[in-house]
Amino acid sequence: AEASLPREGSDSRNGKIHTINSFAMGRLHGKNAIVTGAAGGIGLETCILFAKEGANVLMADISDAALERASAKLKQLVPSAHKVEVQVCDVSKEADVKALVEHVDSWGGVDIIFNNAGIMHADDADAIDTPEKIWDLTQAINVKGVWFGCKHAVLSLRKFKKTKGSIINTASVVALVGSATPQLAYTASKGAVLALTRELAIVHAREGLRFNALCPAPLNTPLLQDWLGDDQPKRQRREIHFPSGRFGEAIEQAQAVLFLASDESSFINGQDFVVDGGMTKAYVTPE
Ligand code: NAD
Repeated sequence: AEASLPREGSDSRNGKIHTINSFAMGRLHGKNAIVTGAAGGIGLETCILFAKEGANVLMADISDAALERASAKLKQLVPSAHKVEVQVCDVSKEADVKALVEHVDSWGGVDIIFNNAGIMHADDADAIDTPEKIWDLTQAINVKGVWFGCKHAVLSLRKFKKTKGSIINTASVVALVGSATPQLAYTASKGAVLALTRELAIVHAREGLRFNALCPAPLNTPLLQDWLGDDQPKRQRREIHFPSGRFGEAIEQAQAVLFLASDESSFINGQDFVVDGGMTKAYVTPE
């Protein structure tokens, strides 16, 4: 039905061309989506876009209070949202992730999961100074959490005999380029996300399931900005490497996630999808 609708039409009230009909139905119309880390920068912006584009969204985060604030903001910004629900979840616990997927199974099964929850711990450092417990905690959330999300999404997609599904896992540019301001546990965890994502992409390709990894550059979200604070030298140490001269915005990541989640990216699979303003392609940057 969607394909038979015109993609544009004229609005006789003012004579201007507007996008109507199929766009009004939304690029994710009727799809069931789970987003982890949904109360944070990238997660919330993605939930807002998913809801605007007609998806049913389960917002999952470890912080109950932040989740309530985030879903209230979403509902205020997208009053037309179909179904938006919240569920507290620690992605490092398999039972919690399984419960998310079971919830969405009651809606008719998962079509999209954005495994986005992640931490960058303040005590994460170099090979010498990273405490082992910080290493383990980081891998538990950033790697095992992504594995659990992939595992239970695949089980749901199979259970409902879906012939397509999109799994997007958040990695980072630090999985691609070395950083002399080390957070070794974090960097290793994001390298693991890239590796597991590309392997799953190949394993499940004939089932119609797509797995892609998002690689964001340093962003204007609490994860990084709280850590940088007012420390100007620490900021400049990073900004000098940005060809665009600025940190990225969460919405710029969310737009890429929406594309990867939608059928518009139907032949994109196993990619390290880099959204970094050109940072990882730069040698020297403009003055
Ligand atoms: P954020 O801190 O704003 O959001 C992260 C969210 O994850 C928070 O709401 C937090 O409560 C939640 N979370 C933490 N531990 C969790 C757990 N165990 N279970 C469930 N939820 C948990 O950060 P963000 O910038 O939106 O980051 C999202 C993702 O993007 C992360 O994986 C991060 O590593 C990655 N990333 C961020 C940047 C950046 O500069 N901000 C750059 C590259 C990659």
